[in-house]
Amino acid sequence: MEKGVLVSVIVPIYNEASNIPGFFASLRRILQAIAGYDWELIFVNDGSQDNSQAELEKLEAHDSPELAVKILEFSRNFGKEAALSAGLEKASGLAALMIDADFQHPLELIPEFIKRWEAGAEVVIGVRKKNKNYGLIKRCGSFLFYKIIGRISKLEMRPNETDFRIVDRCVVDAFKGLKEKNRMTRALIDWLGFKREYFLFEANERADGHAAYSISKLIRLAMNSFVSLSLLPLKLAGYLGLFIMLTDGPFGLYVMLGKYVFYWPYAESFSGPAQLALLITFLVGIVLTSLGLVALYIAHIHAEVLGRPLYVARPPRRGRQS
Ligand code: UDP
Ligand code: MG
Repeated sequence: MEKGVLVSVIVPIYNEASNIPGFFASLRRILQAIAGYDWELIFVNDGSQDNSQAELEKLEAHDSPELAVKILEFSRNFGKEAALSAGLEKASGLAALMIDADFQHPLELIPEFIKRWEAGAEVVIGVRKKNKNYGLIKRCGSFLFYKIIGRISKLEMRPNETDFRIVDRCVVDAFKGLKEKNRMTRALIDWLGFKREYFLFEANERADGHAAYSISKLIRLAMNSFVSLSLLPLKLAGYLGLFIMLTDGPFGLYVMLGKYVFYWPYAESFSGPAQLALLITFLVGIVLTSLGLVALYIAHIHAEVLGRPLYVARPPRRGRQS
């Protein structure tokens, strides 16, 4: 039999024992219906506490050259971001597809993702149509997150972007060059650029089990993304200090001059404590501005420590269909 083009499928698993058999069966049926490809399934068991590992090991019986089953087991729960990164690290296909194991990312759409990738898109990003399965807090939070991150990080991220995406080999290789530890996989992929396409889909209900992402986990993830994608929070203190200095300074000068030099009637009414208050506010302005200056230096160190590449180049196109 002729060898097909190898595509990796990365599935992060955290306490999905009840979903795994059904998920694998559907996935296999759908993948085998796509002609011309060989598949490498990479299940990353992110320290599940249930039977997931045993269920995954059962799948190894189905391992074949056309559909390889690989399992990576974490020693404990490191989070989905780490799981996806590990999957990308291990992927050897000409493209890598990431998909959740809880059926929320519709498996029927995989052929469509592949088609778009074949047509030349280097990143095809699944975008949820509605967040109908999410509670109000998650919905508002996610809306705010994307609004703020879009504003402060100069990244083009769409609201409701998901990790359901396929990325070309060149993106995987570039991704592997990013060494920062606090990461949000999809934000980093967006940072890399490349030719992107968006794909609207309607998310299903979670099949079984429950979403492992608690509100606090999501907040932590959001904080990490803010810090790693933008320096604005660091510079805010400086801006505030500048604002205080620029408003308080002239005003204080006006009061001092008016009271002791020109005897302006309005300035005369400022009592001693009021002048002291103005002086102290001004000093606070200076302190905050200095903090902002320190922030600039930290920003430089931050950029150096992240060690992002200066630029990402597109490698010469390889023939995919060969
Ligand atoms: N997941 C993971 N590690 C975690 C949490 C989740 O690998 O710490 C996996 C989970 O098994 C599923 C996917 O990531 O395949 C999405 O998780 P979940 O459904 O909990 O999140 P949501 O649907 O709310 O994004
Ligand atoms: Mg889910």
